[in-house]
Amino acid sequence: MSNMAQPRTAANATQDLGRAKTGKIFLVGAGPGDPGLLTLRGRECLEKADVVVYDRLAGDELLRFAGAGAEMIYVGKQSSNHTVPQGEINEILIQKALEGKNVTRLKGGDPYIFGRGGEEAEYARRHGVEFEVVPGVTSAIAGPAYAGIPLTHRGYASSVAIVTGHEDPAKEVSSINWKNLATATDTIVFLMGMENLGGIAENLQAHGRQPTTPVALVRWGTTVDQETLTGTLDTIVDLAAARQFGSPALIVVGEVVSLRPVLSWFEQKPLFGKRVVVTRSRAQASALSEALHEYGAEAMEFPTIEIAPPPTFDALDAAIDRLGEYDWVIFTSANGVEALLTRLRDLGKDVRALAGCRLAAIGVQTAAALEARGLKVDYVPSEYRAEAIITGLSDAEIRGKRFLLPRAKEAREVLARDLAARGAQVDDVAAYITVTGQAEARAAELREMFAQGKIHVVTFTSSSTVRNFVKLMGVGDIGGLLRQATVACIGPITADTARELGLHVDIVAGEYTVNGLVEALVAHFAS
Ligand code: SAH
Repeated sequence: MSNMAQPRTAANATQDLGRAKTGKIFLVGAGPGDPGLLTLRGRECLEKADVVVYDRLAGDELLRFAGAGAEMIYVGKQSSNHTVPQGEINEILIQKALEGKNVTRLKGGDPYIFGRGGEEAEYARRHGVEFEVVPGVTSAIAGPAYAGIPLTHRGYASSVAIVTGHEDPAKEVSSINWKNLATATDTIVFLMGMENLGGIAENLQAHGRQPTTPVALVRWGTTVDQETLTGTLDTIVDLAAARQFGSPALIVVGEVVSLRPVLSWFEQKPLFGKRVVVTRSRAQASALSEALHEYGAEAMEFPTIEIAPPPTFDALDAAIDRLGEYDWVIFTSANGVEALLTRLRDLGKDVRALAGCRLAAIGVQTAAALEARGLKVDYVPSEYRAEAIITGLSDAEIRGKRFLLPRAKEAREVLARDLAARGAQVDDVAAYITVTGQAEARAAELREMFAQGKIHVVTFTSSSTVRNFVKLMGVGDIGGLLRQATVACIGPITADTARELGLHVDIVAGEYTVNGLVEALVAHFAS
């Protein structure tokens, strides 16, 4: 017995070692473009990957899920123009896995629908490398869905085919059996078919499909650039030529296309088609980005600001030492809340140090930051600007009272001055500083997009976002660069700064909050 156990254990050990040394390949579907359509498992694979190998059609947004240390390899595969030949991609996947790395191969749509995922998996198997497949939402289904076209429907279609429209031009005999295909299924979706649209329309009609059959072309489906064109088999070629309708697009053929006028939803969203630049810090951007996305816009995050500790904590620490003496602590931003409470912790204290103070918050988000830390806010002025705090408090609440304002080093001094003018004792203390964000790398790309009119809106949520944005863009004529874009500011002070720096301001939110800003955008584009 022990004789047999010995070699088996050894073998297991070698095998385990081998497994620990060789990485695994995850063939992950990125979905059709809308980042929200990545699966949970796909996100997990990105988060855990040592190496990410990705396509052009697998959106940049998703790459943010990869860890900071992951190696990112772009293999820029396009429908007819493989920047990196397939053989080389296969080789990269295997090599990295053999180096012991977990490789996430991110592919547009679903990896097994015309994604050559099958070939990559075969190659892995042949080289003894383990792989897993994470299906994705294919553009063949999602594109039509976002265009208001269900591929099947009880009243219209009970079958669907997904077909490649791109055939090797050198092929003598088509691999597509047009005779059988033309009338076999109620709905037919062609991918990679735009260059061959004429041939597709012709073949289908030649083999028995009615010339009046509805057809839809969906370009950049599920993204901010989505465009849909409808016609019939005998009109679509001319319509597409007139509109210069190009790739990447899919072709839907069948009666279901006629449901589009009733079922269109994505293209009806109030901010559909708008690419909106969000200039706030990465930490604060998501609330705005999510609200924009909800209304159909694409948020392009370009963080012009990051929060950093002040050059010295002396003033803040001194204030913390005598926290008990303050009647009021006024927070003007969520960053101030974060900064003060973090510093309290660093000094070995916690929120109990604030026990004797009354707390005021300017803006709902600031109040929410306090509430999230278990602190009840005593006063939130009805208006979201610093000046409003003065009018809301009575003389008795201000005169002779001690106020602490933990704020950005470069914040405006109006509030402290006005409080002092009414007899308060004010300590205006730098709790953090704002520094120019890490957006330099993307500035060139952004300038290019502005010049091409691809950016429709720029949002500013504070004067410092405006100043840093202008600095980062680094052009003499910022007004000229943004000529085609709509400029939206969260409030009048931010708008003043924008105008001073040479921008035309189109929108100033009536309510100085993220939601107010988004509502103002919606109203602007509705009119
Ligand atoms: N595996 C991918 C398809 C790859 S083939 C999937 O499952 O979606 C590439 C073709 O897919 C393109 O030529 C185009 O026809 C189609 N396609 C991909 N993304 C698209 C999108 N967002 N909108 C419309 N068509 C798209």
